[in-house]
Amino acid sequence: MSLLGSAPLRYLPLKHRVLSHSLARRCFTASSRQANKPHPVSRSVEFKQWSKNPHGQSPRPSAYDITFESSSPSWVGHKEVYLLSKTGVLKLPFTYLRDTCLCPVCKDQYSKQRTFRTGDIPQNIRPRWIKWDGRQLSIKWANDIPGYASDHTSTWSYDFLQKPILDTHDQSSVNEPVRWSKKTMSENQHWISFDDYINHDFKFAAAMQSLKRSGLIFVENIPESREMVEKIATRMGPLRNTFYGSTFDVRTVPEATNVAYTNQFLGFHMDLMYMNEPPGYQLLHCLENSCSGGESLFADAFRAAKLMKKSHPQQYQLLCEQRLGYEYRHNEHIYHNKRPVFEIDPQTNELLHVNYSPPFQSAIPSPDGKDHDHQSVRRLVEAINIFTKLLDSEGAIFELKLKPGVCVIFDNRRVVHARRQFNASEGSRWLAGAYVDTDALLSCFAVSRRKHPTAWKNMNKPPVSQASDVPQTNQATDSQGEGEIKISE
Ligand SMILES: [Zn+2]
Repeated sequence: MSLLGSAPLRYLPLKHRVLSHSLARRCFTASSRQANKPHPVSRSVEFKQWSKNPHGQSPRPSAYDITFESSSPSWVGHKEVYLLSKTGVLKLPFTYLRDTCLCPVCKDQYSKQRTFRTGDIPQNIRPRWIKWDGRQLSIKWANDIPGYASDHTSTWSYDFLQKPILDTHDQSSVNEPVRWSKKTMSENQHWISFDDYINHDFKFAAAMQSLKRSGLIFVENIPESREMVEKIATRMGPLRNTFYGSTFDVRTVPEATNVAYTNQFLGFHMDLMYMNEPPGYQLLHCLENSCSGGESLFADAFRAAKLMKKSHPQQYQLLCEQRLGYEYRHNEHIYHNKRPVFEIDPQTNELLHVNYSPPFQSAIPSPDGKDHDHQSVRRLVEAINIFTKLLDSEGAIFELKLKPGVCVIFDNRRVVHARRQFNASEGSRWLAGAYVDTDALLSCFAVSRRKHPTAWKNMNKPPVSQASDVPQTNQATDSQGEGEIKISE
């Protein structure tokens, strides 16, 4: 919910009593209300009486005996403070302000925990003194939460009041995803040495910015040790434990229960879609790869989604709504979940996650819990086929053969991965894997950005050049003009 609203002109003080002549201040007065612009006065003022509001309620002077010192356009209503900013009017209800108090009494300096409960706030809480200097707002309360000292002063910076909620999911500016194609990722990958990754805070921050924006980075020159994948992962956050273990090995094993453990071609997928919270990021550290084949393939599902939204909006919409089933059903572990292919943030309407894992799909859930309808299943198959072809198209796939000493880190909720067939009879192949949760990475991104803002600013230029959203010709997705993309059969 935005606190920015249109200028409220209903509850305004009509009279004020001059308290001091010593300070040069500006405030809104009744006359400036009509002119709808600030009226400068060279005084600090105390609002002693208030107008009748448009609904005819009587003023209650005793309840609003407020000293209001202002050097910047602002005014006080019956229930709110209004601060005028470049972007509009910030409307701040007293109750809301009391609830967000960040003072050392209300928010413990060490634990950063609140010392009061929202429900403790008197419903008719009101200020007795307000000071606003254009950058900082301070309030003393007439009827504070019981137990608080009379000199308790709540203070907020304007910046905080304007953007009080830390939104680590924010996809604006430096957080905006850079969608990549085969071409753009081939031209510009982000590689960082193991030594820099572990020991060089600034370079690590830059790598995190790349990971945040492109969803794919590489660590190289890693010491030859099975322990290293854990060391690389825990630099970002705690390991995500699953039934595969806190770290796992991808090797050829007889009678593998998971298709990743065989030497067959493994198509594009994401991991653990059948879990309630699929892991946000995956690491694969190559320890051995002397077999022929076994190349790793990656594609940016955010880019494919954007292309599909443009070329096939109806089918795109269907994949935002219709959920697919995912399952892992074995003797010792049974997991199941339903997810739409495109998970949209209901507030921003932006793509949050892509959920795509054909090897682990289960029966298609019925949209209304009843029988399946032939037409609706057919439409779903058609829509998935369009998306699959976009992912599988030549221009979308970045391919490389991981060499020993290299670890790939990728966003499992965005970047699909695949592996070409390999011949296990003439060499060995061994990857050590680990997962780190989205939450941990969002925290890691926010911390590294705060510690090294220049690493994030300098990298404002996308780590890989902006992917053209027009697919290349001579590929499975040919541009047909007018934004139409034909998917060849
Ligand atoms: Zn406080």
